[in-house]
Amino acid sequence: MEFSKFTIILTDRCNFHCSYCSQKKANRWLDISTVTKALDFIYPHLTKECYINFYGGEPLLAFDRIKETIAHLERLNRRRTRKIHYSLSTNGSLLSEEILRFLDEHAFFLLLSFDGWAQDISRKKGSFDRLVLLIPEILKRRRISLETNSVFTAETIGHLSTSIRLILRLGVPKIHIGFSSQPRWTPTSLIRMKKEIAAARTYFLAAYERETDIPWVDMANKYKKSIYRCNAGRDQVALAADGRLWGCFLFPHYFDGRNGNRESEKYCFGGVDTFLGDPEAIYARTMSAIAGLGMDNFSTPERRCIMCEEIESCWVCPIASAFSSRAVGKISLQTCRMTRMMRKEKDLFSRGFENKKRGRRPRIKAAGLS
Ligand code: SF4
Ligand code: SF4
Repeated sequence: MEFSKFTIILTDRCNFHCSYCSQKKANRWLDISTVTKALDFIYPHLTKECYINFYGGEPLLAFDRIKETIAHLERLNRRRTRKIHYSLSTNGSLLSEEILRFLDEHAFFLLLSFDGWAQDISRKKGSFDRLVLLIPEILKRRRISLETNSVFTAETIGHLSTSIRLILRLGVPKIHIGFSSQPRWTPTSLIRMKKEIAAARTYFLAAYERETDIPWVDMANKYKKSIYRCNAGRDQVALAADGRLWGCFLFPHYFDGRNGNRESEKYCFGGVDTFLGDPEAIYARTMSAIAGLGMDNFSTPERRCIMCEEIESCWVCPIASAFSSRAVGKISLQTCRMTRMMRKEKDLFSRGFENKKRGRRPRIKAAGLS
């Protein structure tokens, strides 16, 4: 057992009601004694350099508990045998002067949910103005590493390319883009998505020299062909707001409300006390179930992924895709199509940058950004 990432969901309560959010907001809070008990066990299993990630709900609703958690970790790490990085995913609404100072002092990685021009459509009305003013304030804090996470839906996809430009103009150095499966993507919205990505590509090709320089993380990352497997529990672990331990923070989101489901038990390490009763045996048993979560065991309604010629370049998170297919290991046709499209787009990004390096004009249909 060795973990490079420990995610703590201090509360699943949130002060936003984003239209595409599938998380149940049950108003549960981790008490600090559960957190410290889990940390006392996990600390010796952390890698020399590791990440403690605060997630929610909106984790800043539990800011006092974040401070207590870090104080406890610093006591455990007083001999500095681990290099611990902290990260926080937030909607930004509660970021005050005091909190920013604390995040700066602890050199936090801050993942800010910000949908650009779609912000007031999908997230809380009026939050756009606040975030546009807040981002430059965060960037002044030199020890905070800021990244944004933007989610687009079939209804807001027309804002993708202009939102990317806006976020970069504000000075954000790294961006993550996600696509919500709800509401369903129609053929027209998928065509719009392609056009928007083409517009972003045209901009990136003009503004950046190398593919690895571009700030859209998924497009910049190189990938090796292989059969993708879920990494839950392998090098990461998560403590949910109800006090149960999982291999990844996405599991409690999906299985919440499905507690009686045997499948949920199969993938869960159990409550902290249960797990600490026999950690080695519970870990081994749970990991043998998670080992089955690889592309070679997944299927769409049309075929098994193992029969697909694209399997080695396809990566689908089994839990994220279960939100639309309603079963772990099943991939909806919509997710399969979108995954294929994204892979082709990524190849076009790579080809465009290769052509640029060779001094050739990219053979990509220009789609200007407005
Ligand atoms: S594949 Fe999905 S569930 Fe598995 S570790 Fe990655 S994000 Fe978590
Ligand atoms: S492209 Fe579709 S069928 Fe092929 S491996 Fe990916 S999800 Fe499975």
